[in-house]
Amino acid sequence: MADLTTGTLGDTLRRNGVSRRGFLKFCTATASMMALPPSMVPVLAAALDNAQRPSVIWLSFQECTGCTESLTRSHTPTLESLIFDHISLDYHHTLQVASGHAAEAAREAAMQANAGKYLLVVDGSIPLGNPGFSTIAGVSNLQILEETAAGAAAVIAMGSCAAFGGLPKADPNPTGAVAVRDIVTDKPVINVSGCPPIPVVITGVLAHYLTFGTLPELDQYSRPKAFYGTSIHDRCYRRPFYDKGLFANTFDDEGAKKGWCLYKLGCKGPMTYNACATVKWNEGTSWPVESGHGCLGCSQPDFWDAGGFYNALSIPVGDISRTASYAVAAGVALGAAAAGINRKTKTEANRQHSTVTVDDLEKTS
Ligand code: SF4
Ligand code: SF4
Repeated sequence: MADLTTGTLGDTLRRNGVSRRGFLKFCTATASMMALPPSMVPVLAAALDNAQRPSVIWLSFQECTGCTESLTRSHTPTLESLIFDHISLDYHHTLQVASGHAAEAAREAAMQANAGKYLLVVDGSIPLGNPGFSTIAGVSNLQILEETAAGAAAVIAMGSCAAFGGLPKADPNPTGAVAVRDIVTDKPVINVSGCPPIPVVITGVLAHYLTFGTLPELDQYSRPKAFYGTSIHDRCYRRPFYDKGLFANTFDDEGAKKGWCLYKLGCKGPMTYNACATVKWNEGTSWPVESGHGCLGCSQPDFWDAGGFYNALSIPVGDISRTASYAVAAGVALGAAAAGINRKTKTEANRQHSTVTVDDLEKTS
């Protein structure tokens, strides 16, 4: 494997066989995903090309390692994973070689060498009920977070546990779990929520930071608007069925087989803001609703306590009554037409959001 420890990000990508054309294509896709104007593509490309390795310290508290799994899992190297590889990950429990005193020494050395400049990534919530509930080298999560955040340029709360408290905070919250933003109040905190979050979101945030030296525009929950600005429901390829009042009532009825809307099976897409419907998962292969299961709402605060994953939201979003009765009247013919729309929309969605791997970029260049 190529040495990732020296040079600029551009050097790293070239050493890994990414062509200039492939790189520009990635910058165009990233700029478009982040709602940047086309004129910013050359700026993004130049900034990423010349970017030095930013120091990143990653702290893990009450978490399950799912967020790290999500970010590092990749069957073929994607440009996203190469950018992630390029950062100087100076402390990360799961990925670092050092352990014990050596690991803590590495964290302290990185904090001193990059004071005021390093990015702090946190996954997991912080227990306030008792400092002994979760410790690292005998030090409470709260103390380590406060110490490490003090010298950070910004903090990224990775995953719904760090962003909102997540599963540890679910009722009755036995550990008194809180989110990063409840503790760190004097630094920019960006929430990359999801259980787990989508890998491309973190590279998007990193790309923005490396390009502009700032964090992207955030929504009311401190999430990057570019990825969390639209609901799952508004981008869902099953939406035409919702609008026509065509719902699956069980996971194996005719509606389910025809790909109808999963609202009645508990889909939380109408109240969930995330990029799953466009970016998808597993390198753009699919996403939960496409594989036949409703959205759980994992990127929203307190989704574990939102009334049951298989209970339908009580209030439909939008007036579907007229289109529902129209659908009933039109009967089988409309069902067939809607299935056609579904296929077309799905094909279109697949085409628009195809996987961006190095191999693919080279193939299509
Ligand atoms: S309710 Fe769920 S399955 Fe139905 S259109 Fe909305 S997001 Fe898609
Ligand atoms: S589809 Fe919904 S529950 Fe599933 S990962 Fe995306 S936001 Fe989370």
